[in-house]
Amino acid sequence: MSQLTSLSTIQQALRDGSTTMVDVVQSYINRTKETDHLNIYVEVFEEEAFAKAKALDEKLEKDPSSVGQLFGAVASIKDVLCYKDHKLTAASNILGSFTAQFTATAVQRILDEDAIIIGRTNCDEFAMGSTNEHTRYGPTLNGLDESRVPGGSSGAAAVSVERDTCLIGVGSDTGGSVRQPAAFCGIYGMKPTYGRISRYGLIAYGSSFDQIGLLTKDIDTMSVALSIMSGSDPMDATCLNVEAPGLASADQESKYKIAYIPEVMNHPGLKPEIKMGCEETLEKLKKQGHSCEAIEFDLLSYLVPTYYVLTTAEASSNLSRYDGIRYGHRADDVKDLEELYERSRSEGFGTEVKRRIMMGTFVLSVGYFDAYFTKAQQVRTLIIKRLTEVFSEYDFIVLPTTTDIAWPSGEMIKDPISMYLADVYTVLANLGGYPAISIPKSSDNLAMPYGVQVMSDKCTEEKLLSFAKQL
Ligand code: GLN
Repeated sequence: MSQLTSLSTIQQALRDGSTTMVDVVQSYINRTKETDHLNIYVEVFEEEAFAKAKALDEKLEKDPSSVGQLFGAVASIKDVLCYKDHKLTAASNILGSFTAQFTATAVQRILDEDAIIIGRTNCDEFAMGSTNEHTRYGPTLNGLDESRVPGGSSGAAAVSVERDTCLIGVGSDTGGSVRQPAAFCGIYGMKPTYGRISRYGLIAYGSSFDQIGLLTKDIDTMSVALSIMSGSDPMDATCLNVEAPGLASADQESKYKIAYIPEVMNHPGLKPEIKMGCEETLEKLKKQGHSCEAIEFDLLSYLVPTYYVLTTAEASSNLSRYDGIRYGHRADDVKDLEELYERSRSEGFGTEVKRRIMMGTFVLSVGYFDAYFTKAQQVRTLIIKRLTEVFSEYDFIVLPTTTDIAWPSGEMIKDPISMYLADVYTVLANLGGYPAISIPKSSDNLAMPYGVQVMSDKCTEEKLLSFAKQL
């Protein structure tokens, strides 16, 4: 199995008969057992995965042309994605033992192309967090160094891929939750253009920021999965009605105009080795004939505050539906409706989610709405305006994914403000709705991998992934 780390090698092996889908699933299941202590999965769909594998082996034997484009692909899904008749909790007690009533469009699309879903991965509660420690299931550990966090909120999705328990991790990215764990775990993580993939069946955090994203060890696998998941959906009015991105090419010839932001590179919190790594990447690109230019971007210090004002506002509104009546957990022995709401929510939500509900309701309250929410919307407009200008001139922006390598466990729990500030490089793409990918890098002087991030114009994922391949 060790060499079977890309979709094409697995498909090749299945077609030439050197392996079967049942064997592929068996080896992933073995890996889930060997890595049980990392707390990657909140549920493994073992029996179901084997049954599907068997059916797919028979399908291939009967008619090799009948199998779907993701035949051979085994995927994990983050515990925020609906999969009909399977439990779904967003790692929150408030959802109790809720069972999904339908399947998310993105999940359905990969199932229709013969992917197998191996299980649900742990995450930060309602995708709020950067460490995968804010979860009812207990923290997920980083597979490369168990004393460190895997990042978050799709931390376990990243470890599921990094530890070879599946081929594709399906996560969600509101402000970096796919790219940051990818960087912390040394794999690829991408967030597509806002609206590229339907959000139908994705539990909402910040609806104008949320996008389903992908984690893989190679670009081609990511590219196939992305093109299958993309495309308009009558169930999500914000889903773009544009053609799905084509597959990443091996193009080495195209020369691009690349921008970088000096304020980003000189950020006081940025680890020097990561800065050096990004500079080396830019140097390499110059040598390959691309142009790399510094651009002005004077909104850097507004990114994190704008992101947290707007996402907490949206989150507090989205989470109001968890009232103890319609879903999941309901408090016992209550005397009236008010107490039912209050106690169900107090018992059901964890600390980080409560913090965000409080911030969100504060910035939306009558007295502060204009000072915070309206202001943040205005700043968001400025950010979008500036990014539109940049992408009318440049093909890509290159920047680090994170300021640091994976943190030691427990460090950020004590200091939520530092955790928020660390999102400075990833929230930019979500504020603007742009696609971005984290490309894994390592340095002899760093104990852990890090990521170089590339952002591109809206709906240019094919170009972005081809460029990532070049890199
Ligand atoms: N760390 C960010 C937050 O907590 C990003 C989360 C995400 O992208 N879901 O909001």
